[in-house]
Amino acid sequence: MIGCGPSGAIASQNAAKKGLKVAVIEEHPHVGLPEHCAGLISTTGFRRLNINVPKECILNKVKGATFYSPQGIAFSVSRRNTQAYVVNRPLLDQYLAGLAQKENVSLFTDTKVLAVKMGEIKTLKVSQKREQHFKTKVIIDAEGVRGKFVREMGLAPVSRGIIPGVQIEVKNAQVNPEEVEIFLGNKVAPGFFAWIIPTGENTARVGLGAHHHALKYLEEFIKNHPIASKRLSNAVPVKKFGGSIILGGPIPKTYTHGFLVVGDAAGQVKPTTGGGVIMGGLCAQIAGKVAAEAVTEKNVSGGRLSAYQKKWKKLLSREFNSMLLARKILNRMDDRTLNRLFETLTKREFYRVIEEVGDMDFESEVIRKILLKPTLSISILLNFLASFIPIKEDKKKNVQ
Ligand SMILES: Cc1cc2nc3c(=O)[nH]c(=O)nc-3n(C[C@H](O)[C@H](O)[C@H](O)COP(=O)(O)OP(=O)(O)OC[C@H]3O[C@@H](n4cnc5c(N)ncnc54)[C@H](O)[C@@H]3O)c2cc1C
Repeated sequence: MIGCGPSGAIASQNAAKKGLKVAVIEEHPHVGLPEHCAGLISTTGFRRLNINVPKECILNKVKGATFYSPQGIAFSVSRRNTQAYVVNRPLLDQYLAGLAQKENVSLFTDTKVLAVKMGEIKTLKVSQKREQHFKTKVIIDAEGVRGKFVREMGLAPVSRGIIPGVQIEVKNAQVNPEEVEIFLGNKVAPGFFAWIIPTGENTARVGLGAHHHALKYLEEFIKNHPIASKRLSNAVPVKKFGGSIILGGPIPKTYTHGFLVVGDAAGQVKPTTGGGVIMGGLCAQIAGKVAAEAVTEKNVSGGRLSAYQKKWKKLLSREFNSMLLARKILNRMDDRTLNRLFETLTKREFYRVIEEVGDMDFESEVIRKILLKPTLSISILLNFLASFIPIKEDKKKNVQ
């Protein structure tokens, strides 16, 4: 297994559960570090993965979200129960690695994979500059967005729809700890959105993704955005981090002879929000199981391993396709259109429609129902909103 992010940990745990001897190779000395994530993850997603998140990994619990149009028109959704956790990602990754180790997975940290070929991985013990070779029947590549080994094995890596994301953790922010705030607009965050994710009573993660100059847009957002600047007028930065957000959907082929690709490396990330922990985790569960079955049957051919792609596609391709469509259309919308759509959205008729269904990770049902009623543009926007917070049950806000 290459990489001990959530996808690598989950895939190895699932392979080991089926009796396989598994080694996970992680280049950093500590799992989960350096950090690069906003850490907003749906509770239903964790349930689907069958993960009971320990208390110490949960920084905050979120029940709702407010979305702002470029002009500041607000659309709020809040529900009675917790919809998402804001997690401490390093601790979560370490917890997932611990679950794998409980299944007897061997974890090699401070060990960088240098090269792969069928049945063999060449590594470097980083601190000692010592090379080592691992023999293996199947390689599962969970290396994240870089995709170096995807390319080496002759597959097409994630190449389109990658944008930079930057984030600052702050204290002394004026936030509602139960609510995430999402800001749209081509002048705010062209090609994506900005977020304020509360991590506690007065602490938050403030970030954005943008096609270009993400840090410049973030500084502008904090200083001058009419709503955000008020929330953050006394905010003190604690730490800054960032990474690559993947918005282009999965790569076309995620297997070849003796090799599977999962998680960010396979582009298994929601094109609407850039969230990849749940989607990657669901695919990683399948990858671990298929790899273990293939090794047990002594058949790790591409044909046998293609079962992995068939299974994750059956589970998720409808979701990925509808989110990809939403992302494409959102990226083409100008600010005037977005403002108009928000105006329409706050009307009762549309609000009723989205009350009916809601699921942060599986949005195609939301879009299917709403496509029957409003215009395509409004349904695209709703699909986007539903990917942050399930949009049913809220009776109070926005209904005029
Ligand atoms: C700014 C930002 C905010 C985000 N916010 C969210 C969010 O709120 N919710 C959400 O669900 N997702 C979010 N994501 C996406 C999420 O972080 C990823 O989808 C998720 O981490 C993917 O997990 P993974 O295991 O596939 O890859 P990674 O977490 O990237 O793990 C890959 C691992 O492989 C290791 N590795 C790489 N190369 C080698 C090598 N040669 N040898 C050994 N080890 C190697 C790396 O060190 C790393 O530990 C965000 C991403 C960014 C950039």
